[in-house]
This record gives sequence, C-alpha cells and structure tokens, in this order.
Amino acid sequence: MEHRALTFNPGPAALPLPVLERIREELLNYRGTGMSVLEMSHRSKEFEAILNDAVMRIKRILKLDETFHVLFLQGGASLQFAMIPMNFAQEGKPFAYIDTGYWSSKALKEAKNLGKEVCVLASSSDREYTYIPKDFVVEPRFSYLHITSNNTIRGTQWKNFPPTQEVPLIADMSSDIFSRTFNPHLFGCIYAGAQKNAGPAGVTIVIIRDDLLSRVPAHLPTILKYSTFVESNSLYNTPPCFAVYVVDLVMEWLEETIGGLEKMETINRTKAELLYNYLDSQDFYRNPVVPEDRSSMNVIFLLPTPELEKTFLQEAQKEGLIGLKGHRAVGGCRASLYNAVTIEAVQALVDFMKEFVRKNG
Ligand SMILES: *Cc1c(COP(=O)(O)O)cnc(C)c1O
Repeated sequence: MEHRALTFNPGPAALPLPVLERIREELLNYRGTGMSVLEMSHRSKEFEAILNDAVMRIKRILKLDETFHVLFLQGGASLQFAMIPMNFAQEGKPFAYIDTGYWSSKALKEAKNLGKEVCVLASSSDREYTYIPKDFVVEPRFSYLHITSNNTIRGTQWKNFPPTQEVPLIADMSSDIFSRTFNPHLFGCIYAGAQKNAGPAGVTIVIIRDDLLSRVPAHLPTILKYSTFVESNSLYNTPPCFAVYVVDLVMEWLEETIGGLEKMETINRTKAELLYNYLDSQDFYRNPVVPEDRSSMNVIFLLPTPELEKTFLQEAQKEGLIGLKGHRAVGGCRASLYNAVTIEAVQALVDFMKEFVRKNG
C-alpha cells in the first residue's frame, strides 16, 4: 500500500481507509452496472438504492424513529443557518440562540438577517468561548432554540443538552454527529455538513421531526423548503450523487466494521483521553478550554510562542502529520480527531509532541 499521511484536518477530513479502497474498487464499474456512480442517473434504481440505504443506516445508527425524516441537501451547514429561520419561524415568537463562538455566531447572524427578533439566551464570549454556558432558562415563547453541539474552532462540546420542553431544540452537529450516542428525541432538527464525520464535502445531512414541517411557509422558494425534500425523498433536483454514495459507505463502515455508535464512542473517548491526558501532564502545550466542556473531536493546544507554533507545524508536516494548524480566526494548533482518525494516529501525534518538547522545551 502507498504511504498515507496522518491527517488531522478540521474538514474536509480523514475518511476511513476501507471506504477509500471500496471507492477505488467500485469506481469504474459499480456492482456490475458497467458504469461509475459518477455517471449514473439519479433516477436510476441503483442510485435510489444507494440513497435509501444511506437513509436507513443513518436512522439505525442514530436510533431515529418514524417521526424523523433524513434528508440530503446541498449548500453546506451554512445554508442551514438561513433555511432554519426561514422554515421554522412562528408568528410573534422570537428565535433563541446560544452563542458558543464562530459557527454559532454565524448561524444567529443569518437569523437576524431575516429581520426577525433573535434572542441570544446565553453566550460564552465573555471568556473567549472557552466554555459551554449552562445557566439559562428556555421560556416557551420561542420558535426554537439553536445550539452548536461541537464547536470545531474553539474546541468545546455540549456534554448534556439543555431541556427545552415544548420549544424545539435545533443543533448544528457538523463536527460531532456519529461520534457519540445521544437521545435524538430531544431534538426537533439536526443538521451536519458531511465533510467532518460522515463523508466528503458537497452534501449536508438534515434530520427533521415531522411535526416541524407544518411550519414551512408556502411562500418560500421551492428549493429552500424542507417539505420539498421530504416529499421527493431528497430527489427534487439532482442531488450530489457521489457524495451521498460515500456517506452510505461511511455509514456501512460505522455499522459493520466499527460495530455501531457505542463502539465508535469508546474509540473516540480513548483517542481524546490519549491527547488530553498528555496535555494535562506537562506545561509546554496549553489547552484553554474548561475541562468539563472539552471537545472529543477538536483538541486545541497553544505553544509558548507563535515562533514555536510555526516550527511545530512545519516539523509535524515533515513527519506526515497534517492539518494541525488552528483556524485562521483564532490561531494556535488544533488536532481534529474525527471518526476516521485512528488511535495509532493519535499516539503518533502524542509521540511527536513529546519529542518536540524534548528538542525545544
Ligand atoms: C464546518 C462547520 C460548518 C460549516 O460547514 P459548511 O458545510 O462549510 O457550510 C458549520 N458548523 C460547524 C459546527 C462546522 O464545524
């Protein structure tokens, strides 16, 4: 096998090697059709089978009951920032958002853009988004409450979701869906760009509880209505077929090779503990996040100086450890430990970090 880099990219991110190998195997002739999935009609029975298999696997993996619809959309998680307030607004009821930094700030800005009243129920901006707010009350007067379950850039993660009673809870789970078990029945809507934990860029998974569809306003453009995609089984127009196919393969890998979400969660916990335990055992690298709110997916670490950070990133790259630069908005370093990143890769990173301290500490 050719040499593969160890990628800690924040997204698009590492894909499981067996999935990449399957893609290669099936690329020119998909299961005896004589065609590539890249060339197939999205109305063919082969592609419909792929799409339905992906939906079924997602429902099984997340234990969604028949009250939920699983949709494949385009436009990234970023389009969802706008579609959610457009589709789920209720007359006279403001939107509620929790601001935990970058992506959640972008989401609430889109809601404000629509000229509706947006209430920021809680924010962790007072301490540079290093924690998840917990002291807030969700009154019944809101259309919905929006949270970002994992903050990709700040390295924080909701461990317990807030009780919202009759107010639907909506979550951007782009960077931690399929990484851990959770109770889906707490949510009215969940969305995630596939390119972190579920597949390649180009497709967004949207999960909607059926009762919320009654809110979709008739006047919206057809392609911006969730109901359009529910009614057409995500085949209103040409979907990103190849991306849906890869999502299906990743879901198959998660179910059949890993053995399901509980197993995945255990592996992810092991990976995160490896790195956080090392970070806590020394004082060269520093993680700024409140320990109880640390993300198991995106681990932030700062070096003593920007110069050392630059050297660290250069030397890591030379060793084949890729994608460790922090987001341009916050700097520092970040290792993204998504599902396809192996325990061995995280161990190699920790070994490299130790060696770097020995030489530069
Ligand atoms: C990556 C990311 C986004 C942006 O997703 P796009 O698909 O590029 O629009 C939004 N939210 C979170 C939490 C992310 O990690």
